[in-house]
Amino acid sequence: MNNKCANCHTELTHNAKFCCACGQSTRSFRRPFVAFVKESFHELLDIDGRLSLTIKTLLLKPGLASYEYDLGKRNKYTPPLRLYLVISLVFFLLLSSFQHIYSGHASPESITTHYSRAMFVLFPLFALLVKVFYRASYYLSNLVFSIHLHCMAYLVLMVIAPLEAFEQNHLVLSLLQLPPSLYFVWYFAVTFKTMFRQSWWLSAAKALGIFTIYMGAMGIVFDVFLMQ
Ligand SMILES: [Zn+2]
Repeated sequence: MNNKCANCHTELTHNAKFCCACGQSTRSFRRPFVAFVKESFHELLDIDGRLSLTIKTLLLKPGLASYEYDLGKRNKYTPPLRLYLVISLVFFLLLSSFQHIYSGHASPESITTHYSRAMFVLFPLFALLVKVFYRASYYLSNLVFSIHLHCMAYLVLMVIAPLEAFEQNHLVLSLLQLPPSLYFVWYFAVTFKTMFRQSWWLSAAKALGIFTIYMGAMGIVFDVFLMQ
């Protein structure tokens, strides 16, 4: 392989993955199709570790992924929107399979569809709410923070939802919902402390304020989307 960019002919350094002038990837399409598909799939799902690192950080270190992302340590994490798409896909699939237990008369598919659409209104709204409580923050950073926190909520709900669906069958299934719920309450306060670096009291108070207002807003938005 010659060391020139195929697109703009700029000399490339040895092992360069991208052209430093035009940004084109140095990988060629002249290779086996199966290898190409495998690689693209890998890239899409970050099977090589970014996704698992991101999920592990989200689960165990409240606010750290958002904080580091904000500092510019972005490459080790899955891009937020992609992360959300992967997690929400699994979440809503799981939710719709348990739905007949929650739902009243609306057809199950439509409810999850409305919920997943409503989320695209709720993300920006949550980020805006955070901006109101933290005036010095940046809206875009809050949007990433919002996506991370919602991803975490989905992960916790993925544990709680199956337990809730079958809780009539056994008391233990109700009790088992308690630890993940309490964990999330703790997590919610700590995540603000990590991200915005204010005192414990201030972080907890703001978290409570944001949570209360957001729950109210969520109820209204879901009602609006379900009416359609
Ligand atoms: Zn180039």
